[in-house]
Amino acid sequence: MATKAKIIIVGAGFGGVAAAKRLAGSDADVTIIDRRNYHLFQPLLYQVATADLSPADIAWPIRGLFSRHRHIAVVLSEVTAIDPKAREVVAGDRRYPYDYLILATGSSNFYFDHPEWEPDAPGLKRIIDATEIRKRILLAFEQAEIATDAAEQRRLLNFVIVGGGPTGVEMAGAIAELAKVTLARDFRHIDPKSARIVLVEAGQRLLAGFATDLSDYARHCLEQLGVEMMLGQPVQAVDAAGVRIGEIFLPTATVIWAAGVKVEGPGQWLGVETDRGGRVAVAADLSVPQYPQVFVIGDAAKVLWEGERLVPGLAPAAKQQGRYVADAIRARIEHRPPPPPFRYRHVGSLATIGRNAAVVDFGCFKLKGWPAWWFWGLVHIYFLINARAASLVLLQWFWAYLTRKKGARLITGLRPLFGASEAKTKA
Ligand SMILES: Cc1cc2nc3c(=O)[nH]c(=O)nc-3n(C[C@H](O)[C@H](O)[C@H](O)COP(=O)(O)OP(=O)(O)OC[C@H]3O[C@@H](n4cnc5c(N)ncnc54)[C@H](O)[C@@H]3O)c2cc1C
Repeated sequence: MATKAKIIIVGAGFGGVAAAKRLAGSDADVTIIDRRNYHLFQPLLYQVATADLSPADIAWPIRGLFSRHRHIAVVLSEVTAIDPKAREVVAGDRRYPYDYLILATGSSNFYFDHPEWEPDAPGLKRIIDATEIRKRILLAFEQAEIATDAAEQRRLLNFVIVGGGPTGVEMAGAIAELAKVTLARDFRHIDPKSARIVLVEAGQRLLAGFATDLSDYARHCLEQLGVEMMLGQPVQAVDAAGVRIGEIFLPTATVIWAAGVKVEGPGQWLGVETDRGGRVAVAADLSVPQYPQVFVIGDAAKVLWEGERLVPGLAPAAKQQGRYVADAIRARIEHRPPPPPFRYRHVGSLATIGRNAAVVDFGCFKLKGWPAWWFWGLVHIYFLINARAASLVLLQWFWAYLTRKKGARLITGLRPLFGASEAKTKA
């Protein structure tokens, strides 16, 4: 009996899951390796960071997604190397042989060669980032409430978001609503409405990937929410005391990084050409030119579109590529002609700016204001992984819309504070 082809997928994000789902009916043994046990819906991470949703609302166990497919196995492990000559993936102390390999490991935050900024300016990529940011935001209000020094109280009520792309805009809008609406009546010694929320962007406009009128609209909406914008001003330094932007020093305890991404992993593992962002340059069928049985997809791949444009790091792009490579591999296994070269279909860009305002840019068709906000909500509900997740998120959004309350205002990970008080009590 002929042995089945072994396909390994590294990464169960948007690209990896789309590829695995497409391979569900194939005659191959598929193994998904991921360093976490859940698939994460990153577009709603900012809602965890700003206490609208809980982590479990936007993450689902990978095993559960494939429990009905006997030929798809899931391994919780971190890939650290690939031996492309031996066709093996190294994860933990094991080596996994493959006939075809799909690398869908995504991207991580990039601090423009200043990794020392990271502890004071967490980015938003993982659940742990979102809960850390949520902790810092909520803790800043709590500490301001008991601060005895006026300057320190002021510093605690300053919030700086670095990066005016969709994540930065969404974070700024959501923090402004948290401060000016949700928390407005919850404190006795501070006025949360006096919080200063500053969005810093090195470019000349917000949402650079959107049409100019939509950028202007986003700016106007943020101004209405009381967000200050500093455009054309790159951040020069970040530390525990605050942020330096040109001649200005902004004292703050809460900096959120939404400014850049880089890719680590596939390029180094394979020893192949990457662009400056670490993306692997792939062939027209998304395979690596030196290793035709290895494919790189999603944020980790450098794929061109309409000439010189880079396919954007968006979920639909990763999903389209995942489905494409699954079809290309199936064609090879089943000795069929390969599919035509990969062609990216841009389905549009979306960003929300607080309650009842969003922008939607489909190129030929644009929306803004509340119709865009409803559209944004429906699209996100539609793309959540299953009906249960969609109904839970919908219910919470509906409740928040009616009451203007945020249900997940938990400060977690406060052990050092409790440790100190417990120690005092014991003493
Ligand atoms: C805050 C935020 C908001 C966003 N909002 C939007 C939006 O509104 N719309 C949109 O279209 N896109 C949005 N994106 C972008 C979108 O999420 C990404 O483009 C998409 O997730 C890329 O998919 P991927 O499969 O390449 O990688 P990912 O979805 O990032 O998945 C990568 C997977 O690889 C795993 N992995 C990484 N390294 C290893 C390793 N060494 N070993 C094992 N496993 C590994 C990770 O654990 C992860 O599960 C947003 C991204 C962020 C961070």
